[in-house]
Amino acid sequence: MLRVAVVGGSVGGLTTALLLRDLGHDVDVFERATGELTGFGAGIVAHEASLRYFVERATTRLDRMTVPVGTYRLLDGSGSVLFEEPVAYRFISWGRLYQALLGEYGRERYHQGAALAGFSQDGSGVDLRFASGKEDRYDLLVLADGILSTGRRRLFPGAEPVYAGYVAWRGTVAERDIPASVLERIDGTLTYALIPHSHILVYPIPGADGRIDRGHRLWNFVWYRNVEKGAALDELMTDRDGYPHAFWRLPGRVVERFVLELKALEAASLPVESAAVVAATGHPFIQAVMDVESPRMAVGRVCILGDAAFAARPHAAAGTAKAAENAWALADTIAAFQGDLAGALDAWSAHQTALGASLVVRARDIGESSQFRCDWRPGDPRLRFGLYEPGDSSIWTRVPRASRLSVSPHT
Ligand SMILES: Cc1cc2nc3c(=O)[nH]c(=O)nc-3n(C[C@H](O)[C@H](O)[C@H](O)COP(=O)(O)OP(=O)(O)OC[C@H]3O[C@@H](n4cnc5c(N)ncnc54)[C@H](O)[C@@H]3O)c2cc1C
Repeated sequence: MLRVAVVGGSVGGLTTALLLRDLGHDVDVFERATGELTGFGAGIVAHEASLRYFVERATTRLDRMTVPVGTYRLLDGSGSVLFEEPVAYRFISWGRLYQALLGEYGRERYHQGAALAGFSQDGSGVDLRFASGKEDRYDLLVLADGILSTGRRRLFPGAEPVYAGYVAWRGTVAERDIPASVLERIDGTLTYALIPHSHILVYPIPGADGRIDRGHRLWNFVWYRNVEKGAALDELMTDRDGYPHAFWRLPGRVVERFVLELKALEAASLPVESAAVVAATGHPFIQAVMDVESPRMAVGRVCILGDAAFAARPHAAAGTAKAAENAWALADTIAAFQGDLAGALDAWSAHQTALGASLVVRARDIGESSQFRCDWRPGDPRLRFGLYEPGDSSIWTRVPRASRLSVSPHT
């Protein structure tokens, strides 16, 4: 049995903690945030990897957690249909997924207000140092501390996030606040609008209370807009109290002037299907789009996963799936190597580093194509959502498969 510390209590950390605990290991999760994490967060594509725990190990019904969508539609700025195809996506809200994972894990070994500050390791263990002054020693440290990872800075000081040159404006709105004539046009669809140097997508997600029936859902938008690095970006990412932020600008904290600008632009440049969703959103928020690449995912007894290791631009809609897949692959490999922790971490790192690197490249190409080259080809299969390959997020026509990592000490 290993004594395991998981740092970061979001999707990657919780999935890892659940799976390693299921293998019989002694697991603690350390999460920096002090309050509830559910206060913000919008929609995510429910890839089978993200939900695999519920399919295989829990009694939660997926059709009660997710909203299905059967059509992908791409519009131009005037609302003409450029391309349409059937899909089998399901969408969930980040908050719903987080709550479900935390519900399975429980709060007993989920330590909040516990920020990792540093660590050092030797051949037999890892010493963790927390911002509170607390110290402890574990057999294995799993860093799942997100895109601005403290752990990555310690492991790979050069592997910094690289700003992509654009931000994602995001927001959610209650279905009842969308005009009926618009709802009729977008119901059951994932609707994209492609405009010069930009695109926006809208799709339905569960309501704040988790309800997925019509009238109680939320609609989510993600609008990619170019913002030059430097003064323009710094000003946009400064909150209402004057504090600068590197990655997220939370709902209600974006300076009003920028929200008004967004709403003016929406009316002038988007088709009504997406403009109406943006117009009805009370508190849009911002995510700066970044690439993060780590050279590998394990160093001695420390491993790093999810956004902390590789953060891909959101276009492939696979960030959450990747974090969960990293966790499944880690647990499967540790089990297969039967006590050979070093061998397991090496094999896991090689396989999942390749996955992370390929996802970053694919998502970067989609983003560059939309935002800068302006050469998106409607119907291009490479634009489909997917983790290992475009399209593998269209999942609900078959039984979820096992993790693609199949290694053992004997292969
Ligand atoms: C509150 C929240 C809301 C989100 N909402 C969305 C959304 O709506 N749509 C979407 O696509 N993605 C969202 N994400 C991001 C999404 O979860 C990730 O992109 C993806 O799932 C990979 O997850 P991760 O576990 O690797 O990293 P993250 O989800 O980023 O989680 C990292 C966790 O580590 C914690 N942490 C950071 N530093 C330390 C430290 N030094 N010590 C201890 N803990 C630390 C953070 O507080 C965070 O909880 C959200 C993340 C969070 C935390």
